[in-house]
Amino acid sequence: MADPQGFLKVVKRDALKRPVDERVGDWREVYAPQPMGERTEEVAEQARRCMDCGIPFCHSGTAGCPLGNLIPEWNDLVRRGRWDAAIDRLHATNNFPEFTGRICPAPCESACVLSISEPDTGGSVTIKRIEQTIVDVAWANGSIEPSPPTISTGKKVAIVGSGPAGLAAAQQLTRAGHDVTVYERDDRLGGLLRYGIPEFKLEKSVLDQRLMQMRAEGTHFVTDCEVGVDFTVEQLRNRFDAVILAVGALAGRDNTDVAGRELDGIHLAMEHLVPSNRECEGDGPTTISAKDKHVVIIGGGDTGADCLGTAHRQGAASVTQLDYNAELPTDRNTERSPWPAWPLVLRTSPAHAEGGLRRYEVAVQRFLGDDKGHVRAMVLAEVKVERDADGRRIITPVGAEIELPCDLALFAIGFEGPEKGPLFDDYDIALNRRGNVSCGPDWQTSAPGVFVCGDAHRGASLVVWAIAEGRSAANGVDTYLTGFSELPSPVHPTALPLAVV
Ligand SMILES: Cc1cc2nc3c(=O)[nH]c(=O)nc-3n(C[C@H](O)[C@H](O)[C@H](O)COP(=O)(O)OP(=O)(O)OC[C@H]3O[C@@H](n4cnc5c(N)ncnc54)[C@H](O)[C@@H]3O)c2cc1C
Repeated sequence: MADPQGFLKVVKRDALKRPVDERVGDWREVYAPQPMGERTEEVAEQARRCMDCGIPFCHSGTAGCPLGNLIPEWNDLVRRGRWDAAIDRLHATNNFPEFTGRICPAPCESACVLSISEPDTGGSVTIKRIEQTIVDVAWANGSIEPSPPTISTGKKVAIVGSGPAGLAAAQQLTRAGHDVTVYERDDRLGGLLRYGIPEFKLEKSVLDQRLMQMRAEGTHFVTDCEVGVDFTVEQLRNRFDAVILAVGALAGRDNTDVAGRELDGIHLAMEHLVPSNRECEGDGPTTISAKDKHVVIIGGGDTGADCLGTAHRQGAASVTQLDYNAELPTDRNTERSPWPAWPLVLRTSPAHAEGGLRRYEVAVQRFLGDDKGHVRAMVLAEVKVERDADGRRIITPVGAEIELPCDLALFAIGFEGPEKGPLFDDYDIALNRRGNVSCGPDWQTSAPGVFVCGDAHRGASLVVWAIAEGRSAANGVDTYLTGFSELPSPVHPTALPLAVV
């Protein structure tokens, strides 16, 4: 039985980060390593702050965890030092807690009852840190082993895309006894976990460790294979009993209307992040380095923050991140986003603490080039943002223009759904009005036997949603193939997006 007054006795302690000077000098995770014994003792104490509040909003799908993580249960097990039982409860709802424990924005923590009147309660339970510690302990003591299927259904499933959605679906379906092959167009597996999210947020050894387990369970992987180019979806459909599209929402939003956009030195965020991640993988120096450059990042979101941290590690001369929105407050506005909903507050990632300037209510007006056709400056204007009757943003310049030195400009202004390439050209798959793949309640697209999950369906979102959708689509496929499924289905395809990265 949890201690209902534990939060009054134990002070909240977040994980310690390495000093800024040290961490911008390498690509390792920003958090300070801690001896496992000391860490488990501290985290077990933190778990005592969970009071098992009766209605655990932290694990509910609408406000808290989309995976339905059984948070009060594993908090109690950790409090009692039962780490082996805790990893079982964690894995019951989440295939990859080592990813979410590191990089999830943790809607569970903002939905925690202790975050209602934060100054009095000391703040939410440190759920994410507890999650990460449970899974790190389990990997360290060898209790995470391959869990191969005990039956074979004789059915074959192809999954296109190896991001967290495709991987979650693959693990679920392999364990249910299907013969699963994941096709990935990149040379390495992992989707945005590999080539989007920087090493300092998620070291790739963490991903590789899980992929080893999946291989040992019998999931097949084919890299360097672009479905739609190397073979068509129809050919895939003929060879497999079901196909899942988990191709992500990788069409980067651009702003080609800005004068000077054609100059050298202006890129989409992913053109900066992918080669940087490749360099960390040992593929040689990045093609787009921020070294000694004045970097301007257009877009105030998480992708922009990843460019910021990457630019500092590459040795940028200065980094400025622009946002046309007004700066949000640091405290929850209880009228606009009341507890337990996801709070509309200023998000400050560890990368922001490493330097750089954030400017709000400004938008780029034009780029200025040098005589070699390279960007040398950017002209900004202060703007106000309003919504028209249809909810569309109207951005109007107000006030003076400002010129900023800029040798490298990065557009981190979002994504426009899955890339519309040959995959969709040669097979009739209905898209919705936002350009994402539509599906029915069973995750089946307009093409019979072809399913969808993750960002390809939801639009650019979060890893936790990708895993939840992958697990749910696996249930849909298993039911389609066998008429029945015991696989969990944590989310419905119409569940609302929580946050857009
Ligand atoms: C820079 C950045 C940072 C982020 N940081 C975070 C974070 O900190 N926390 C968080 O929760 N979320 C974060 N996200 C969002 C998160 O990464 C995504 O929501 C998640 O990865 C989506 O998973 P997915 O499996 O649907 O797609 P993806 O991870 O995009 O994977 C799709 C895969 O499909 C492959 N593919 C596409 N087309 C084909 C084809 N025709 N044939 C074969 N393969 C194909 C792609 O190469 C890719 O590997 C971030 C996103 C970005 C861009």
